[in-house]
Amino acid sequence: MENYINETDLNVHKEIQELKSLIRDIPDFPKPGIIFKDITPLLHKPWAFQKIIDYIGNRYIGLGVDIVAGIESRGFILASALAYKIGAGLAIIRKPGKLPYKTISATYTLEYGEDKIEVHEDAIQKGMKVVLIDDVLATGGTMSAAIDLVEKLGGNIVSVDFLLELTFLNGRKKITDRGYPVFSLIKF
Ligand code: AMP
Repeated sequence: MENYINETDLNVHKEIQELKSLIRDIPDFPKPGIIFKDITPLLHKPWAFQKIIDYIGNRYIGLGVDIVAGIESRGFILASALAYKIGAGLAIIRKPGKLPYKTISATYTLEYGEDKIEVHEDAIQKGMKVVLIDDVLATGGTMSAAIDLVEKLGGNIVSVDFLLELTFLNGRKKITDRGYPVFSLIKF
């Protein structure tokens, strides 16, 4: 299939290297010591935005995914385009206090302290096929909490996807240890 890609092909794939070169490093943002991966230069290019959604979305053609769940806020950009492409619904996983209806929540640990994410209790029905997506896989803490939410609602997680992965942080293991496949398009 056109634009279908296996994870093993990614490092040798010229187009993926081009997409990777559009990710901008911002040192010491939002705080000293962090190199922030800024995806906006990639989103600014029409062909690049289309490519990433095609590469990710073509993996799901014909698989009957019911819903794509995206994590606030950059995850929404990818989740909405992906849901549209594959003809799935969209669930939004948000920071506390943003969602108007009844929610369930999951707490996760940060470097200092804790954070929480929430989803509407009716966002996902039991047995629905769910793809989870966020922009960056770092330690995997945020995505693990998102998995908690989908599991609580009885969703059947088909894949956990990222635009880019910081492989040296080993966040992938946190997710694969729970039995879910991880796909990231661009690896650092
Ligand atoms: P983590 O829970 O450690 O996997 O962090 C993932 C979340 O934090 C994602 O929602 C990312 O958007 C954000 N994030 C973590 N590290 C970075 C980074 N170096 N550059 C950009 N975003 C990051």
